[in-house]
Amino acid sequence: MTRGHQRSQPILPGATIGILGSGQLGRMLALAAAALGYRVQVYSPEADSPAGQVATREVVGSYEDAAAIARFAAGVDLLTFEFENLSSAAVTAAARHTVVRPGAEVLATAQNRQREKQFLSAAGFPVATWSPLPVAPSRGSSAPPGDGPGPHPVGYPAIVKTAGFGYDGKGQRRVSDAAELAAAVAEAGATPLVVEQVVPFDRELSVIGARSPGGEFRAYGPFENSHRRHILDLTSSPVAIAAALRRHARELVRDLMEQLDVIGLLCVELFQVGGRLIVNEVAPRPHNSGHLTIDACETGQFEQHIRAVCGLPLGDPAQHTPAAMANLLGDLWPHGATPAWNRALAQPSVKLHLYAKREPRPGRKMGHLTALASDTAAAVRHVTSARAHLG
Ligand code: AMP
Repeated sequence: MTRGHQRSQPILPGATIGILGSGQLGRMLALAAAALGYRVQVYSPEADSPAGQVATREVVGSYEDAAAIARFAAGVDLLTFEFENLSSAAVTAAARHTVVRPGAEVLATAQNRQREKQFLSAAGFPVATWSPLPVAPSRGSSAPPGDGPGPHPVGYPAIVKTAGFGYDGKGQRRVSDAAELAAAVAEAGATPLVVEQVVPFDRELSVIGARSPGGEFRAYGPFENSHRRHILDLTSSPVAIAAALRRHARELVRDLMEQLDVIGLLCVELFQVGGRLIVNEVAPRPHNSGHLTIDACETGQFEQHIRAVCGLPLGDPAQHTPAAMANLLGDLWPHGATPAWNRALAQPSVKLHLYAKREPRPGRKMGHLTALASDTAAAVRHVTSARAHLG
């Protein structure tokens, strides 16, 4: 019998939590878990990783090595994730040895854009018009499989995205006509894709829900997000939004968490078009747009994730101070020179979070700044000015 989801007792502080993945999300999860008195082990292919540096134990192994993941799982009281691009076979194998939260099914849905959009469409959640690619030839069609993208109902401009293993805009391309679409499909070869309508959104929002094994639910946000080069750049909160739309956004996340039976966190990225919300994508883990919760909320998202997966009562997600978060990408390290941290910190309401990654590559998330202020606009001004002073 698998122990998996059948465990109903809370996993109390003193127990050992295993995290698959060892980047910044794992690091901030490990720090929050340690504050609660848990021991933390992390597993990833990387040594001296951001999470490994602050964990009790760092195990180096491949995500494809189901036997090594099973051994890792056998040594922890609970297994959780910092990212969803893991083979669900490995996660299913791990579930034979320990409690795994969130479960393998939600990972399988969230890690593949075709499955994710199929699920969202079938369950009646609003998504941009989309199509899987290449389109399977219809029954009776004489076209051989793989012979071009075929017809699709999306229209142009559109965005082509790889179905799996895409993050931070990697594997995305905007196409403006059939020729560009055909080129993108040809280039992708056998890689499954989705193509979706470019949504003329007014703004991008995200909501992060937390759900415990007993079904208790709490929500953060909506946060407002802006991206550069498809990578999150700035998040701010609270957002000026009609009370009914805020409620709708949170209820949508609650519904999604219930339907996907998520234990832990679920971040839902939304496009706002007038009074409508369209789901862009979902991630069953802490999210970059929730980083400001560490400094601006009664309970930060990382602590909340640990509480949820361990079956502890959820904390109060209320935001106590308006805040804005700015990502710090590797581009801020021109020629390897260290940014002027002291200048960013000269403003006492600015908090610095660095992930201790050794190599500052362009586009790589190296850290973030959060500014707290008396209103959201002031927080955005302070955080962008603090970041500008780094260069
Ligand atoms: P994603 O990796 O799907 O989260 O996409 C990253 C960013 O690209 C989003 O946050 C948007 O800024 C932009 N984007 C992605 N899909 C669309 C779309 N269908 N319409 C407009 N913008 C999009």
